[in-house]
Amino acid sequence: MRVVFVGPPGAGKGTQAKLICEEWGIPQISTGDMLREAKAKGTLPQDLVEKMSKGGLVPDDVVIGLIRARTELDDAKPGFLLDGFPRTVPQAEALNELLASRGQQLNVVVALEVPQDLLMERAVLRRTDKRTGQIYHLKYKPPPPDADLEHRADDREETVRHRIDVYEKMTADLLPFYGNAGLLKRVDGVGDVKEVTRRVLAVVKAAK
Ligand code: ADP
Ligand code: AMP
Repeated sequence: MRVVFVGPPGAGKGTQAKLICEEWGIPQISTGDMLREAKAKGTLPQDLVEKMSKGGLVPDDVVIGLIRARTELDDAKPGFLLDGFPRTVPQAEALNELLASRGQQLNVVVALEVPQDLLMERAVLRRTDKRTGQIYHLKYKPPPPDADLEHRADDREETVRHRIDVYEKMTADLLPFYGNAGLLKRVDGVGDVKEVTRRVLAVVKAAK
């Protein structure tokens, strides 16, 4: 099973991806998480650190390289869920070529849809546990007292607004690209986490 999650910042991609990957035993591959790990280790070049913290995209060749290497690992052989990649048409084309060279293809692209006012609240009040990677929300999923919380540098209100604009510009091309390929399924991301999981699982199972 090879699934892509597309959606604006704060739509719930990471939250849903973790639940579905646990249930299905496939890895969640998030370019955002990989870039943040590289940043934490000090191996991400400074110009990319700055691009990320301002909410811009990093160059296509950087993320394509990360995906090429990560999808080659053994745990990705039975399938994977890509979260936050591809974000541009050149990335989507590179992914198609990469999969075709291995005789593989995508099963489905899930677009999680959430209105702007909710996105802002979800992203600005998001907190992540540095040790476990667990995603919390100060209002909807309060963290336990012993969590080692991190507030992402790009989750400040102004930066989230910019990231939503970047997402809208990018999806103007990306969603029709996958729509034309017959892979795109739109899922309503409003509602409690379990309800959204049910909706996502329904479209993913139908694509199997
Ligand atoms: P993304 O990966 O798309 O940026 P996340 O999965 O990190 O989004 O979710 C953003 C924030 O919204 C997190 O704080 C998360 O706990 C919260 N969240 C996710 N799904 C829901 C939901 N269905 N209802 C309320 N809050 C949610
Ligand atoms: P995310 O965790 O998906 O919200 O990504 C956080 C940040 O990482 C983005 O705002 C970009 O700066 C960078 N990033 C993650 N994935 C990509 C991608 N596929 N293409 C370009 N930049 C990306």
